[in-house]
Amino acid sequence: MASPVPLSTPTAPAVEARLALAEQLLACDAARPCAEAVVEWLAHHVQAGASACLVREEHGERLRCLAARGLSESQCAALALTPEGDGHPLVEVLAHAAPRYFPGPRPPLPALGSGGWFAVPLGRPGAPPVGLLLLAMNGAVLPREVAWAAAHAGPTLARLVPPAPVAQREVAGNGLLRRIIDAVADPVLLTDQAGRPRIANARAEVLLVSGPDASEGRRRAVELNRQVFATALASASSAEGASRSSGFRRREVPLVDPVEGMDLLFELLSTQVLETDGQVAVVSVLRNVTDLGRATQALGESYRRLRATEREARSERHRLDRVLDSVADPIILSDPSGGTVMMNDPAEKLFALPLDGNQAARGRVHTNDATFSSFLANLVDAGGSLRWRGQLSLVDPATGATIPVEAVASKVLGDNGELTGIVTLFHDRTEALEKARLLERVKDVSSHLEARVQMATAELAEQNEKLRRQAIQLEQASAAKSQFLANMSHEFRTPLNAILGYTNMLLQGVSGELTPAQKRNLTRIDSNGRHLLEVINEILDITRIEAGRMPLHLSDFGIPELLQEVVAELDPIIARSRLAVSTELGARLPAVHSDRQKVKQIVLNLLSNALKFTHEGSVTVRADYVTATSTLTISVTDTGIGIDPVYQEKIFEDFQQVDSSPTRAYGGTGLGLSICRRLATMLGGRVTLQSVPGRGSTFTLHFPRRARRA
Ligand code: ADP
Repeated sequence: MASPVPLSTPTAPAVEARLALAEQLLACDAARPCAEAVVEWLAHHVQAGASACLVREEHGERLRCLAARGLSESQCAALALTPEGDGHPLVEVLAHAAPRYFPGPRPPLPALGSGGWFAVPLGRPGAPPVGLLLLAMNGAVLPREVAWAAAHAGPTLARLVPPAPVAQREVAGNGLLRRIIDAVADPVLLTDQAGRPRIANARAEVLLVSGPDASEGRRRAVELNRQVFATALASASSAEGASRSSGFRRREVPLVDPVEGMDLLFELLSTQVLETDGQVAVVSVLRNVTDLGRATQALGESYRRLRATEREARSERHRLDRVLDSVADPIILSDPSGGTVMMNDPAEKLFALPLDGNQAARGRVHTNDATFSSFLANLVDAGGSLRWRGQLSLVDPATGATIPVEAVASKVLGDNGELTGIVTLFHDRTEALEKARLLERVKDVSSHLEARVQMATAELAEQNEKLRRQAIQLEQASAAKSQFLANMSHEFRTPLNAILGYTNMLLQGVSGELTPAQKRNLTRIDSNGRHLLEVINEILDITRIEAGRMPLHLSDFGIPELLQEVVAELDPIIARSRLAVSTELGARLPAVHSDRQKVKQIVLNLLSNALKFTHEGSVTVRADYVTATSTLTISVTDTGIGIDPVYQEKIFEDFQQVDSSPTRAYGGTGLGLSICRRLATMLGGRVTLQSVPGRGSTFTLHFPRRARRA
């Protein structure tokens, strides 16, 4: 007897790996892929120098190497044996149907290093082995994975390898043999080719033989069984026709249990043998696979369910892991007693003990643990409430800095409402607290600012009020001034007109002949009176414009006619001068809609200035239309004395002249251009100047083709 082989220390069961092999074995329909699957699997899960799987030949007794690892083809072939083979070390293993360790090389087991070989029989428990598993190993301890693989591969191989033929043995009349086959649990029988039993063991007789005292029901059941059996046998023989020597045939035969009346499913294995009298007989073995079929089906079903559940659980776990890792805040899952089940990376930084043995960091982790434990205890004490929120002060294990956090814990309840876990999420409040502090400061500063703004606003309002009052006073003063000037001008003009009238009458000799001296003096009175009247008229114009008493009178008129009129009015002066005065009109001059009188007054003023300040050369009046801006321009260009740039702006102000000395060479009031500018503004236009001293000037009036009433 071989001594029992010790098994290796149990390791964590590789459940998944085992399921994978079991799945492969279930799918096997021949011995070779089954042997290959086992050898391949062992290569991944057991440290062996070499391995091989020997399986009994179909319809033979010889065991042959069907799969191997770490062995050459010839080494593999040399392992073949027959169960009766003398001197083969493995024969004994087959006989005892128990694993055995061979410490050293034992031909034909090849020498591999200093180790020996394990031989593990393969087959159904309690039945003769149908194969052997060989593993070259260093120790005499059989790994658990090997024992597990052998225990599962054995029955599969036994299912796939038919029983050894008995054709060449003496069966009939051998009492011992008769007892042996009777002891076999499966029905075994020897029949002729038509299926008529010659020898049947006890189990076969129950199914296929009925005695004379058998009940009617039993006889019918037996008859039915025999017909089914004979048909199955005949179809097996005919299928066998082409390959008579190929040995056992396998097929499923549905029979009835004549005693119980139950449907049974058998696997029929039959082979032809030549009897001593030369007759062909058939040896049949019927294997009851009723339960096996059901069990296999049920096993397959539950296995599939198990796999599906496992897949679901695994993907759920992966998803959960991904979710947890993607959360930036620390998360801890605790069991009902407060023990940590899992935590994400951020939580590990606070609650996992550091691997480097840093004592300070370890102490801080313990502090965090204690803080968290007391927080959890509060939640558990909170009874019915499912959530618990609290402000905790944790410590950064790496730096020792305080981390203010808000912890939110939620209870996880089972189907029956029992507490199965607690999920806690920590939210770092450092930033929020800093923001709150900054907000407070901003509030302080802004209220301070608000007070200052209020003060400044009050001051501003006071200033505004002062300004408003001053503006009213100024307006009133200006209106009074304009009124005064208008009145005064009127008061001046009336007596002045009388003076001029009488002077004129005297000059015309109404009061008698005048002496030359009287005539000279009266002419001076007339000339000065006219100048005074001109000044008064211009002052009157300005005061009327400023007092808003010079409204626009809009009409449609043509520029060429207007220019003709202006030139005609100044004809006496032009005639007296030695100047070439011309008028130029640009192409496509449109009719304009504006105040004709005011345009004329401006041009008249500009032209009379040009004539006044030009001694020789020419004066040109030119009109153009600028389509892009719908604007008209009337320019007066002279070749006169020109104006120094210093005065070019100033001369548009009231009473401003380039030469304002009492001995000045030119007459005038210094009001003409300021009136022009005011009138141009009323038309929606302006007056511009270009001048070079000593070479001449160009004054230009720009005004829109269509004036708008103010
Ligand atoms: P007045 O001609 O009555 O003095 P204006 O307001 O019309 O008043 O002109 C102001 C001054 O501008 C003039 O005194 C003169 O010095 C200067 N001025 C105006 N037109 C010309 C011109 N075409 N050439 C040179 N100087 C001019």
